[in-house]
Amino acid sequence: MTTTVTQTITHWVNNKAYPGTSSNTAPVTNPATGAVTGEVALANVEDARAVIDAATAAFPAWRDTSLAKRTAILFRFRELLEARKPELAAIITAEHGKVLSDALGEISRGQEVAEFACGIPHLLKGGYTENASTKVDVHSVRQPLGPVGIISPFNFPAMVPMWFFPVAIAAGNTVVLKPSEKDPTAAIWLAELWKEAGLPDGVFNVLQGDKTAVDELLTNKAIKSISFVGSTPIAEYVYATGTAAGKRVQALGGAKNHAIILPDADLDLAADAMVNAGFGSAGERCMAISVAVAVGDVADDLVDKIAERAKTITTGDGTRNADMGPLVTKAHRDKVASYVDAGEKAGATVVLDGRTVEPAGEADGFWLGPTLFDNVTSDMSIYTDEIFGPVLSVVRVDSYDEALELINSNPYGNGTAIFTNDGGAARRFQNEVEVGMVGINVPIPVPMAYYSFGGWKASLFGDTHAHGTEGIHFFTRAKAITTRWLDPSHGGLNLGFPQNA
Ligand code: NAD
Repeated sequence: MTTTVTQTITHWVNNKAYPGTSSNTAPVTNPATGAVTGEVALANVEDARAVIDAATAAFPAWRDTSLAKRTAILFRFRELLEARKPELAAIITAEHGKVLSDALGEISRGQEVAEFACGIPHLLKGGYTENASTKVDVHSVRQPLGPVGIISPFNFPAMVPMWFFPVAIAAGNTVVLKPSEKDPTAAIWLAELWKEAGLPDGVFNVLQGDKTAVDELLTNKAIKSISFVGSTPIAEYVYATGTAAGKRVQALGGAKNHAIILPDADLDLAADAMVNAGFGSAGERCMAISVAVAVGDVADDLVDKIAERAKTITTGDGTRNADMGPLVTKAHRDKVASYVDAGEKAGATVVLDGRTVEPAGEADGFWLGPTLFDNVTSDMSIYTDEIFGPVLSVVRVDSYDEALELINSNPYGNGTAIFTNDGGAARRFQNEVEVGMVGINVPIPVPMAYYSFGGWKASLFGDTHAHGTEGIHFFTRAKAITTRWLDPSHGGLNLGFPQNA
């Protein structure tokens, strides 16, 4: 397989590149240099329909392909991914900007879902009941939905699509993936890998585009479900539009993740965790910690320890051993910097100012260094908004109850963490906090593939989380079958409701 970042990044249909008919494109940049490295096709409605038609045509044969054959392809996909992940990591770093080790990490977390999906024969097993009524048996099966749509964000161009498509494909669905137009090449690389693994034509397709492509996926009758990950306003729109069109929708939205640091916590470990979770991937993670809630008298020491560590972070080109890369686009970099301006104006203490960073990289890269604010209050925009950049706010509170109230009154509920050596406090927190994913002395508690990933409140629209058993349920429909084989004793009319005997 040869994969190069070519000038035009096209759609992928029936196991080959498909240019489409639209002449609209969007630039793709390398955030570390600021250079435009490609143009991604932006589908018109006809292009979107052509991709959806391919997925629709491939569905009947794929649905009826044996579990043994499906899992053989999944295992091959997993093996190829394991062997070739450095190629994919380089593509992610070139278009997203995250450092190579982080790109490899995201691929590994996505690969876990492919490994989980290799167990599909077991995961799809139904139940069987003999003699539910006299000589009547009942069994259940789970069947695929049909062609399904996946719409993904820029921040995990490999992992987030992989939260969904291995499970969807393993369960017998066909897929149309609409990646972010900011870093669209990873999806094409994954499509080439599926082809090499032996996936039949039309089972995995990539539709490049913007709102036009998304809207066609949301309203086209052939698409049976939508798995969306992105910002909260778009997640809400996708959920409302997709469900109004009669589809199953899981729409994962934005976040504002808090970590509580209790007075008995190991402050060195907590400070390490705040730096790793606040500034990893330049804060462009939906599970990033953006608010450290310091309880009682730990605040001064905690802020010192975080600042001490954050100062040692090198910001630079992700291919050259930097700790932290650039932000994804110039516009996003400038937006994040404007939040730093706003925080300063609002009266928060700027402990570390990322605007003055000296990056280890090209001058035109989209740089912003780690920024640490102290004395942040809940009315400031740096607290209320999801910034999605390397900006960590410290909020000082007097008690655990005050910290909990802060988290539970926040509109988001994606991830959270508590740092403490008190098992009772941690147990109380896991019980009381209104957030979908909770870490106890773990700052980024992303669940394993065999559990399910998803937040609460404005961080998820719909009721089904990604992967794990919830993913299996999302991508299948249950059917219960009641069976009686012919027997003369079963004759006769009876208009009453069926009852067991
Ligand atoms: P985004 O909402 O801008 O884009 C997500 C997807 O929606 C992209 O494919 C994009 O092309 C499409 N889109 C954008 N605007 C649209 C519109 N008006 N109509 C239809 N489709 C549209 O998000 P992003 O900036 O790519 O990603 C960052 C966001 O994603 C953050 O808010 C982050 O918290 C969130 N995120 C959440 C999770 C989670 O698990 N909850 C995971 C990763 C990212």
